[in-house]
Amino acid sequence: MLNLVIATKNQGKLKEFKEMLSDIPLNIVSLRDFQEIDLEENGKTFEENAVIKAKRVLEFTGLPTLSDDSGLEVDALGGRPGVYTARYAGPGASDQDNIKKLLHNLKGVPRDKRGARFVCCLCLALPDGRIFVEQGYLEGYITFEPKGVMGFGYDPVFFVPELGKTLAEATTKEKNAVSHRSKALEKIKKHLIQYVKGKVEG
Ligand code: IMP
Repeated sequence: MLNLVIATKNQGKLKEFKEMLSDIPLNIVSLRDFQEIDLEENGKTFEENAVIKAKRVLEFTGLPTLSDDSGLEVDALGGRPGVYTARYAGPGASDQDNIKKLLHNLKGVPRDKRGARFVCCLCLALPDGRIFVEQGYLEGYITFEPKGVMGFGYDPVFFVPELGKTLAEATTKEKNAVSHRSKALEKIKKHLIQYVKGKVEG
């Protein structure tokens, strides 16, 4: 079976990708299998970061690579934390630290001004040199307190009107039906399927 590297160490992202790619015959590995790869995320946009990551991992492994750069844009914070979402509360910050800082910075902001969106930029880099980039978005708002135990990252404070609950109260299946990641992946999938087909048929 063909290998695909998901360029992440994030178990939450990996779980979602595995479920969403389960209909394609692929052996999915991740950066947990290539601990020695050192990735710097110093791009100014999600797209720049996704492309840097995918190219670097493809260069190192020689394997088709799918990278994900994602984050949260909060209206009341002028679109921040954006590309700094993972390190919002400082380098090496935990999900809890980041959530705490976000809720602190939104103290006193009323419900109708707490609008936010998740952005996901995916880059598929293939050994033949082709690169595909796609984005997906999920609109919602930031709650006043965390709710739910599923998912990862900011899921407990991200309320999705479409689901009527936070992402941490949703099952992976429910989240994948609406998420920024699944919307970007839907667009990338056709290239991936074509690539796998080409390899299988030789
Ligand atoms: P990256 O891994 O450098 O792309 O950083 C992504 C940041 O956005 C991390 O802090 C993640 O926790 C957060 N993030 C991205 N996607 C999601 C999601 O689907 N749910 C919750 N947090 C997310």
